[in-house]
Amino acid sequence: MNELEILARLVSFDTTSRNSNLPLIDFIRDYLLGLGIASVIIPDATGTKANLFATIGPADQPGILLSGHTDVVPVDGQSWRSDPFELTRDGDRVFGRGVADMKGFLACALAMVPQFQTVGLRRPIHLAFSYDEEVGCYGVPGILAHMQAQGLQPQIAFVGEPSLMKIVTGHKGSCGLRTSVQGLAYHSSRTDLGVNAIFHAAELLAWLQRRATMLAGDAAEQAPFDPPYSTIGVGVIRGGIARNTVADLCSFDWDIRATRPRLVGEIVGALERFAQETVLPVMRRGHAGSAIVTEIAYDVPPLLPQSDSPAEQLGKLLAQRNDTATVAYGSEAGFFQGVGISTTICGPGSIDQAHAADEWISVDQLRSCMGFLGRLDAYARGG
Ligand SMILES: [Zn+2]
Repeated sequence: MNELEILARLVSFDTTSRNSNLPLIDFIRDYLLGLGIASVIIPDATGTKANLFATIGPADQPGILLSGHTDVVPVDGQSWRSDPFELTRDGDRVFGRGVADMKGFLACALAMVPQFQTVGLRRPIHLAFSYDEEVGCYGVPGILAHMQAQGLQPQIAFVGEPSLMKIVTGHKGSCGLRTSVQGLAYHSSRTDLGVNAIFHAAELLAWLQRRATMLAGDAAEQAPFDPPYSTIGVGVIRGGIARNTVADLCSFDWDIRATRPRLVGEIVGALERFAQETVLPVMRRGHAGSAIVTEIAYDVPPLLPQSDSPAEQLGKLLAQRNDTATVAYGSEAGFFQGVGISTTICGPGSIDQAHAADEWISVDQLRSCMGFLGRLDAYARGG
């Protein structure tokens, strides 16, 4: 099967993150098995989703890892001109959910396997296909655990997120958090007998806003991103039931887009200290059961630009270009970099089409990706 035929099959599985991805994983496993390559299936705790990991070539050598996620974002509420789960072609463009983000890359990698496989790989090529990337990168830690258990330490990873085949060397981290404040409800005529969770949440929010302002103004924190500093945002707030009732509960959802590792821990730790030392003592005078809890919903680490890294050098060679870029979106790349694998992003298609209605990728981009992977094959043979 060529890359377009494989892409048509991959698109036909509705792997929206809320669904099982097992039918798609089964298809890939069977395809690889047909080529004589065994896959390791790494299931999630529920058994309804799985990562797939496969190695072509000598596993005991350091090699190259090709990383992609199998899930896609929903089409709910979008108006599509064609069935999003059926690949349709119009001139140089093919349409379908996930063709850019990032089943196009998966299809190219799979279509190249017969070539990878034909005798003589000196460096192995690993395929690492994950679940639940779009909802918080919940799958990829299982892949890292598997590699560690097997003693596999690839030298280089390429993450095939849509970059128009540019070499992307960095993006910010993305951490989602929820802070919940518990006070005490009372009739609003007796504010003296209640503990207003909304007022105290406001103190925490004002603290976060001051911290965000500090980050924006800290020259030492600058990095090559837009904007060039770490940001803190608050997206949702909930609290209270009626104007005449002291609110006993307030929670807010916020996120940190960090330009460096460890910043998330620093901010959460400092907020925690502010809560324990400044806010809670006042709340507990009114109600001993008052509480403030911050939970992390997801934590995607940044991909840090490392100039002239092995992944950047090889990526430029294979992509036949000399420029690099950074991007605004998050990816699994920081997870691989975090365990010492030199990592860049490079994949076909544009992020402009990802997640949108009528998502498309050009056949030309798929051809470029096949060229990149063909040169990777030559590299892995040591040629
Ligand atoms: Zn993606």
